[in-house]
Amino acid sequence: RLCYFNGSVMPVEKASVNIEDRGYQFGDGVYEVIRVYHGKPFAMRRHLMRLSRSLKAIRMDFPDLEQSLHKVAEQLIRDGKIEHGYVYLQVTRGAAPRDHLFPLAPLPPVLSATITPCPLRTPEQFEQGGKAVILSDDRWLHCNIKSLNLLPNVLAKDEARRRGADEAVLARDLHTVTEGASSNVFIVRDGIVFTHPDGPLILPGITKEIVLEIAGELNITVCQQPFTVGQLRQADEVFITDTIHEVHPIVAMDGIKIGDGAAGPVARALQNAFTEYWHDTIAG
Ligand code: PMP
Repeated sequence: RLCYFNGSVMPVEKASVNIEDRGYQFGDGVYEVIRVYHGKPFAMRRHLMRLSRSLKAIRMDFPDLEQSLHKVAEQLIRDGKIEHGYVYLQVTRGAAPRDHLFPLAPLPPVLSATITPCPLRTPEQFEQGGKAVILSDDRWLHCNIKSLNLLPNVLAKDEARRRGADEAVLARDLHTVTEGASSNVFIVRDGIVFTHPDGPLILPGITKEIVLEIAGELNITVCQQPFTVGQLRQADEVFITDTIHEVHPIVAMDGIKIGDGAAGPVARALQNAFTEYWHDTIAG
């Protein structure tokens, strides 16, 4: 597999990181994951805008962000001969002797990227859906920053696997549902879609953003308001969204069926329109 590091594209094994990189020692950096369809990055501008907001939130500057990251992504896709996959982009505050305080004169930010092939999900995989468990959302109160500090998410994902599930749905005080360990969460009740509003408690997902626009076009009512674990368990449908899974039905929660335990019509309509959307953007 190929990566981008220190200005050039090379095999992943050839890249070596300075052990005093602040990303390595403090998780002091931010990242993005961008989907590649038919050799083209999808929703790149939206991802770079979010990256730029994350950088600003951690008081980092990255000159010419948009132009240079576009180039890096395109070079990796071309050299890696990737048809379908995703680009991982990471920016850290740079390398310096370990100190919580970062130098007042900014270090050169360290940019790295990888590219990974990822086949399109099949209709069967969509219909099969996934299983989730509810876990306590113990994260900090700046979840809108796409920070490298993912330990709570990593532990939640591991706990989900230990319980035989694919995703952890996080809830503050095990009451208010926020989002998944690596996805946004939606429920459907009587044809109305509910999802947690953007703000410091969740990551503003790019897939979520696009799905909300699509829902508007399909005349599906969406309430961006918090809902409870109880409401989630009683929902007609539950689905998650993220860059890799697009719109993905959750058919069981803590081992108990959601609705009739199958992919639902609202998730299916949104997924179909989402597929059409990326086809159109890639073609255009
Ligand atoms: N929330 C969290 C915590 C995530 O890690 C992700 C995946 N990046 C998402 C939501 C979904 O975001 P996106 O649609 O931009 O992939």
